[in-house]
Amino acid sequence: MIYGLRILVTGGAGYIGCHAVKELVKAGHRVTVLDNLSKGHRAAVKDANFVQADLARKKIVTELLQAEQIEAVMHFAASSLVGESMQHPAAYYQNNVVNGLNLLEAMREAGVTYLVFSSTAAVYGEPIATPITEDHPTLPTNPYGATKLAVEEALAWYYRAYGLKYISLRYFNAAGADPDGDLGEDHDPETHLIPLVLKVALGQLPAVKVFGSDYPTPDGTCIRDYIHVTDLAGAHVLAIEALAGGSEPAIYNLGNGSGYSVLEVIRTAEKVTGRVLPLNTTGRRPGDPAVLVAGPEKIRRELGWEPRYSDLPTIIETAWRWHRNHPRGFAEK
Ligand code: UDP
Repeated sequence: MIYGLRILVTGGAGYIGCHAVKELVKAGHRVTVLDNLSKGHRAAVKDANFVQADLARKKIVTELLQAEQIEAVMHFAASSLVGESMQHPAAYYQNNVVNGLNLLEAMREAGVTYLVFSSTAAVYGEPIATPITEDHPTLPTNPYGATKLAVEEALAWYYRAYGLKYISLRYFNAAGADPDGDLGEDHDPETHLIPLVLKVALGQLPAVKVFGSDYPTPDGTCIRDYIHVTDLAGAHVLAIEALAGGSEPAIYNLGNGSGYSVLEVIRTAEKVTGRVLPLNTTGRRPGDPAVLVAGPEKIRRELGWEPRYSDLPTIIETAWRWHRNHPRGFAEK
């Protein structure tokens, strides 16, 4: 175990970032969050230093790394919606690639050599084999996946040339909320299935839209691998400690290895909430593969990662608690 690392977390006020900050602080690390608050919430950062800044301002980032004597970085700050990326690729290249490279350059200038990078299953594109393991071909079908892959490729070269050691974590579907009830998902607009389903349960939305019922799956709806955000956060702690302990660069999938259809998610949410959820089946959402399920054995084997909250009812129960107790998210009640 490695304690007391000084860690900069970019995007630490966002959904996954704030859960990771909580786990890092619990594990005894000293955290500074850098976030431009374009999507994140100041109230989501509780036990860490907070700096509101944008990665476009490289000089500020370099100075922060130096002033705080940062030893390792976790990089969550990014744009992350597939549909939006199809409409605005330029914004995705700017925010994810250009600003990502600013961060790498700032790290180089400040001599910081450990990075945990938030990547995505979208780097794989349409799966040719399921479950998806890390050696699956990477052929992204949208700019979101392409920009994440571009940064991963830069990392490999930065390692060779400059010794930057990184672990890239390719997330499947992050979901759920902090089991203590302090943190949860709060996007505006919300596009993700589980929070939308729970907004229907709360009466904030009239019906769950089901995007496509003609997929080649048992019930015709898409299958995804949902991973609890706290389990995902725990993997980040293991990754950063592994790097600081001398691990070589690596790429890991982060999912559970079991998939659930959209209808299974909705039925589980009906059981958890005790409410009947009206459905409205619409056409497919462009860019959605039928099945995305991780082969997560590598991270279990190499980092000893064990999910604790990731069965679907637990994911939905924790999310339900958050949404019921915080119907306006992080805004004042
Ligand atoms: N989905 C849906 N209705 C919605 C939102 C999502 O049917 O209102 C489906 C979507 O097509 C996908 C799954 O739910 O198959 C998960 O989508 P989400 O946006 O939560 O995550 P993504 O897979 O895009 O990362």
